[in-house]
Amino acid sequence: MPLAVVHHPAYCAEIPADHRFPMNKFRRLAEVLVEEGIVAAGSYRQPAPAPAEWVSRAHERAYVDQVFAAAVPSGIAREIGLPMSEAVGFRARCAPAGTVLTAMLALENGIACNTAGGSHHARRAHGAGFCVFNDVAVAIRVLMADGAIRRAMVVDLDVHQGDGTAEILAGTPSVFTLSMHARRNYPVRKVASTLDIALEDGLGDAAYLDELRRALPQALQSFRPDIVFYNAGVDPHGDDRLGRLALSDEGLEARERFVIATVRRAGIPLAGVIGGGYLEDINRLARRHAILHRVAAEFA
Ligand SMILES: [Zn+2]
Repeated sequence: MPLAVVHHPAYCAEIPADHRFPMNKFRRLAEVLVEEGIVAAGSYRQPAPAPAEWVSRAHERAYVDQVFAAAVPSGIAREIGLPMSEAVGFRARCAPAGTVLTAMLALENGIACNTAGGSHHARRAHGAGFCVFNDVAVAIRVLMADGAIRRAMVVDLDVHQGDGTAEILAGTPSVFTLSMHARRNYPVRKVASTLDIALEDGLGDAAYLDELRRALPQALQSFRPDIVFYNAGVDPHGDDRLGRLALSDEGLEARERFVIATVRRAGIPLAGVIGGGYLEDINRLARRHAILHRVAAEFA
């Protein structure tokens, strides 16, 4: 069966061309997946933009309304690091809806991937670090309210700590948050996940994969979630602008294969989101994000 992949054209919102956030990677990734034959042309699953009621399950209503109305206070906009226009606000409604849809498709088919998502720095009351709404936290809350899942695990392998996810889901014993990240990287003040694995700068493929092999199977076995949300950020790569680790493309591929195989062999559905990745070369960056979808397709 072909891998179910979720995409919305609004994932790539208009921002100034010289902006440091690589917005065009979302458009290019959707093209690359078709070029590589992972997704048949015209077969992307497109979400409807999330209503405020969904987003408010993970965020304060006042902040949700500010984003929807393109009226985010300048201090918060600065912390997010994106121009909080109507287009960026609309994008922020589509990404969590995409992760909700991805999770529903994963529950149905065993595995599905978004072409965005992993906005793990967004807190309950405000966004931060290029993250407006926390799509994974929204999806977990929406699916739980719906009765579709009772227990969820977040496996966050973006190189930055999943502080927003940890904050929003703290005190929810039915959610296990795992963050493996570079200790010295953003955010300066980290928020405790259920399990944090803080790595030293310059860590390469072998040592990184060892850490993952030590942690993931055991966490899965003891917690037994109904679904895993996998944040496959590619910013642990050695040439990433914002990473501090030293993984290669082959290391990332081995990582995706290990995570997906471990989760799927345990009979647990996996919803993949792309997370961070920062390169000037958008084509190379999009191809790097596509590793997730290419490996996931082996398990579809
Ligand atoms: Zn990151």
